[in-house]
Amino acid sequence: MKKALSILLIGSLMATAAVGCSGNQKSGEKTIGVAIYKFDDTFMTGVRNAISEAAKGKVKVDIVDSQNAQPTQNDKVDLFITKRVSALAINPVDRTAAGVLIDKAKQANIPVVFLNREPLKEDMQKWDKVYYVGAKAEESGTLSGEIIAEYFKSHPEADKNKDGVLQYAMLKGEPGHQDAELRTKYSIEAVQKAGIKVEKLAEDTAMWDRVKGQEKMDAFLSAHGDKIEAVFANNDDMALGAIEALKAKGYFKDNKFMPVVGVDATAPALQALEEGTLLGTVLNDAKNQGKATLELAKVLADGKTPNKANTGYEITDGKYVWIPYKKITKENMNEAK
Ligand code: BGC
Repeated sequence: MKKALSILLIGSLMATAAVGCSGNQKSGEKTIGVAIYKFDDTFMTGVRNAISEAAKGKVKVDIVDSQNAQPTQNDKVDLFITKRVSALAINPVDRTAAGVLIDKAKQANIPVVFLNREPLKEDMQKWDKVYYVGAKAEESGTLSGEIIAEYFKSHPEADKNKDGVLQYAMLKGEPGHQDAELRTKYSIEAVQKAGIKVEKLAEDTAMWDRVKGQEKMDAFLSAHGDKIEAVFANNDDMALGAIEALKAKGYFKDNKFMPVVGVDATAPALQALEEGTLLGTVLNDAKNQGKATLELAKVLADGKTPNKANTGYEITDGKYVWIPYKKITKENMNEAK
């Protein structure tokens, strides 16, 4: 009995030691701790599914919901560190909090890949085992602006008051998020670069959210009515919310149209493109962002340095993987599907 007990004890001690020392684990036994800013986000759900898909048969992933609260995310990361995961993948709630997370990871010597919410440059420089997977926000802004500019040029009736100026409304994502700030700026710049004068009638944040997008658009319409000639939304969920508000005011029937653009190319957005309510969107490639995150984290978990050969993705400045955006309209929507 005594002998059996001590064998059991030694056995469990050995198991603990194996978990404690990630370097001794085989790739298949390693775990990557993934913290998403919140599960209830259409685009991030796509990225999350892509991470799980890419991990199948290769490495274990433990994906947790930070419930849109930075303190919750910090706790979840602490727990991952206590469990000695082999690598972390973090979609920060607040991108300026990345510095604190990097300090924690560095102290525990657990490499970290950030995604979708870009840490500040100075934080990225804190440690060589820190990476970022995302897309160039300014590019998506430019592409969505070009869609509106092309429409305005080829549809003279879009200038409803015939003043030669595009009167617009802007639905912004979360303030401070690089995608919200830069999409807002670059979309309008692209319209101006196409030689079209603009006038901003309304701008407000709808926090990436469909319901809030609808409420804000409803308020814009109450204040400015038919003076609005185009709607820019920093993502598809807000664009779809705006379309609901517009429908309630009689748009999208009897020749009453409003050009609305979004970003992401989510499934419901592609359906709206098909129905002819959404004018255009920009493919934010959730599949490749998820896959690149997993591939980098896996290579890091194995104690190696990620490069093009071992991840399949180009690494810029030793730290960044940039996934390209693509302009999507009804004509090429099959490419997004
Ligand atoms: C997407 C949004 C999403 C946000 C989350 C952006 O890149 O376009 O749809 O809500 O990321 O951080």
